[in-house]
Amino acid sequence: MSAHRKRTSCRICGGPRLRPFLDFGAMPLANSFLRSEEEFAGEQAFPMEMCFCEDCSLVQLRDVIDPEVLFRNYVYVTGTSETVREHNRRYAETVVKLLDLKPGDLVVEAASNDGSLLRCFQEYGVRTLGVEPAANIAEKARAAGVETVNEFFSLRLARQLKAHYGAARAVLANNVLAHVDSPVEFAGGAAHLLEGSGRFIAEVQYVGDLVSNLEYDIAYHEHLCYFSAATLVRLSEAAGMWVTGIERHPVQGGSLRLYAAPQRDRADHAPEALAFVREEEEAGLNRWECYEELARKAADHRAALRNLLERFHEEGKVVAGYGAPAKGNTLLNYCGIGPQLLPFTVDRNPLKVGSFTPGMHIPVLPVSAIEERRPDYVLILAWNFADEIMRQQTDYRIRGGKFVIPVPQPRIV
Ligand SMILES: [Zn+2]
Repeated sequence: MSAHRKRTSCRICGGPRLRPFLDFGAMPLANSFLRSEEEFAGEQAFPMEMCFCEDCSLVQLRDVIDPEVLFRNYVYVTGTSETVREHNRRYAETVVKLLDLKPGDLVVEAASNDGSLLRCFQEYGVRTLGVEPAANIAEKARAAGVETVNEFFSLRLARQLKAHYGAARAVLANNVLAHVDSPVEFAGGAAHLLEGSGRFIAEVQYVGDLVSNLEYDIAYHEHLCYFSAATLVRLSEAAGMWVTGIERHPVQGGSLRLYAAPQRDRADHAPEALAFVREEEEAGLNRWECYEELARKAADHRAALRNLLERFHEEGKVVAGYGAPAKGNTLLNYCGIGPQLLPFTVDRNPLKVGSFTPGMHIPVLPVSAIEERRPDYVLILAWNFADEIMRQQTDYRIRGGKFVIPVPQPRIV
């Protein structure tokens, strides 16, 4: 089987009217960091095109990469960021209170990564079970005391888990719903695994923030869907669930948290969720024109960022990157920013240090390289952690170093 194929139907409504608006061209996989220069020649790139469903308004990539290629050896480890740790603590507290979870109740997390969120639930005596397809990361979670099944979450797996562990009070899915090619089946699996009074709780990046903050770099092959409140409601319906709430959260550049129940306790979805959908309609988020304009703005942004970095280069200034996130690779590849304009980037994740970024082949160095090489500017590729990064780099700033935050418009701070 080829690693890449193109869909012809929408992932939620199944309709055929997928209209492309932003073509990234051939892109490497955003998390396929290269270990050495010998790997450059054999590197693969795949088409990547964002589309709008003219039937249900779901924004999605038409391109599908075999999940075995994408996720079996994933390098993103959630435990590494302070912002995420704090988010996890509050998340667990909220869910424990909301569902009045008692010791012995079961909480299952799909794509549980290194188990850092489930560990926060364990502090309340709740039983936890992780489901994580990346073997290396599932192993880390087990070592930290979080029972973890090394599998992709699916309806079939949900049946097995329910038979073995019993029904769950909560099924959590953070930053994974957008990764699956069949989100309706995935959410259906969660519904099956839940007790009647349980909740499916899913966090996804919000397409409304993508549009208003021009965060087009959150597009990469792993992110197949870009949800709105409206499309989350449609998804829940398609999976046989009722929406009890949709909240906005600032994480990951702006996210939505969906709460859905397998059992209906009122006539319709929660009125706040429906009001949210109406607001989106008023803002035009359900219309083609919104995305046509997004594509135009992305092209202008690319020109502006390149001009800025070229000017620095002509002036003899050194620019380093901060972070080697997947979205940084979308940004660098789409804007054509290579080692000439950005000679290195740094990252706190030891799994990435010593490697080269996909496509642009920028060396990833440890964070101490900022101190040692003293670049004139630091381009924050991990812009969702900009505040945290700038706080950690006060010495650099005191010595006159400046930061460039790339979105929504490149700005020097
Ligand atoms: Zn659709």
